Amino acid sequence: MQEETDYLVKGCGAMGMAFVDTLLNETEAQITIVDPRHGPGGHWNDAYPFVRLHQPSILYGVASRRLGQDRIDASGDNQGFYELASGTEVAAYFRQVMNDVFLPTGRVKACFGSVVTPEGDIRDLASGEMRSVRIRKRLVEASRLAASIPLTHQRGFDVEAGVVCIPPNDLPRRISERRPVTVIGAGKTGLDVITWMLAQGVDAGRIRWIVPRDPWIANRRAFQPGPTLLAESLSALADQSEIWAQAASVEDLCRRMEAQGHWLRLTHEVWPTLYHGAIAAEPEVTRARAIRDIVRLGRVVSIQSDRVRLQSGEILASADTLYVDCSASALGHTRHLRDPVFSPGRIDLQSLRFGQLCFSAALIAYLEAHGGDDEEKNRLCRPTPMSDTVEEWIPNILAGSANRSAWMKTDGLREWILNCRLDPMTGLIARLSASDPAIAREAQRLRSVSAAADANLRRLMSADMPPGAALG
Ligand SMILES: Cc1cc2nc3c(=O)[nH]c(=O)nc-3n(C[C@H](O)[C@H](O)[C@H](O)COP(=O)(O)OP(=O)(O)OC[C@H]3O[C@@H](n4cnc5c(N)ncnc54)[C@H](O)[C@@H]3O)c2cc1C
Repeated sequence: MQEETDYLVKGCGAMGMAFVDTLLNETEAQITIVDPRHGPGGHWNDAYPFVRLHQPSILYGVASRRLGQDRIDASGDNQGFYELASGTEVAAYFRQVMNDVFLPTGRVKACFGSVVTPEGDIRDLASGEMRSVRIRKRLVEASRLAASIPLTHQRGFDVEAGVVCIPPNDLPRRISERRPVTVIGAGKTGLDVITWMLAQGVDAGRIRWIVPRDPWIANRRAFQPGPTLLAESLSALADQSEIWAQAASVEDLCRRMEAQGHWLRLTHEVWPTLYHGAIAAEPEVTRARAIRDIVRLGRVVSIQSDRVRLQSGEILASADTLYVDCSASALGHTRHLRDPVFSPGRIDLQSLRFGQLCFSAALIAYLEAHGGDDEEKNRLCRPTPMSDTVEEWIPNILAGSANRSAWMKTDGLREWILNCRLDPMTGLIARLSASDPAIAREAQRLRSVSAAADANLRRLMSADMPPGAALG
């Protein structure tokens, strides 16, 4: 007899898990979830050992189960902010969700070590066995936002035989070799590697950093949506929205964001050209500034025993250098993805609020369960993909803002959001405003500036409008 399922979910990472969790809660559907890895949690299973979430755990995972204890860290770089789960904690959490929440329903079948083929069949990677599954409702594509990470990505540069170039996963084992270290890449992983080494006591003079483009880094202080820090977080968000409402140009927006401490950069001497939405605490960025040997000659083209060739030149290097490859693009390869989320027989999980992938996947599941036709559902699901620059990020902020206002006008969905663990701020504002004047005041300030912020961001995106025109 042919296997049947209501939903065939391709990918069991954070997005696939968050989608399935909400769909299980909102429907009676039978779900088959498939992943080539040997357990749930996607890229977290292959992450480097000192990785942590860069946003609080409070915002991450599936809607039905808390990740961590919602504690505020008492020490370390994240002191005073909500806890950040480590990579192993995230992977363990998803295993618990699978074992304690999904499988006991009897409605989820998990096929690990398997892939969904382009034809929609399931192929077991070990045996090569193929099974065809009849999908009663939809194929759910939960692998298109798969993160490209150092351990598993295809390097974009050549490495001569004999040169040691490792992913950050191997760094703790090799750090005692006391060789000179060159870190390749200045995204969140590169920053993590630099700050981790310095925290281990590695002398900054032993480290060279290849920074192809300097990044803007968002200060974590505005991403603190739990009850204890809600007023401060809202205040920071309202300040940011005021900047967005007033900025005369994209450059002016960046300067004001930096002047108020919302955005950070590695050095005040170099204007960043990259914005991937990386989030860090100020002490991490301050510590990274100890590195003096920074190479800004573009991307690495090749590494030879005595030199590194880059897009705009080459540098000499000692033969015993340990290279740490932090050049994987994470979600960079997904920045042009803007397919409709809902199409006949198919759902393409995508971000609907910049940087909030778990919430987005859960919301899409809610809409699948309760929304109208695909056209109506897609109206509520404007994709907000990854950005490479501030100019690319602005339209995604606008799309997220349009999504939010449409969601809050939609009966049922609004109530779901108000109670959704993955969007704690909306519910907390509603519950705490009456008793906490600071929360009420900052929430009101944020609400009152948001239309002007959107209007000015739109103006910044259209080169032909004179400054201030959209502000009326
Ligand atoms: C170091 C790092 C830190 C991050 N920190 C945060 C954070 O703090 N907060 C946050 O919101 N986001 C964070 N992110 C973003 C992160 O990418 C997302 O949160 C999330 O993990 C992405 O989930 P995903 O399911 O789309 O991708 P993945 O976790 O990559 O999962 C996709 C899955 O699809 C599977 N797959 C691929 N092809 C097939 C196929 N043919 N058939 C079946 N399955 C297939 C893959 O094996 C994989 O398991 C971080 C990313 C990185 C790299």
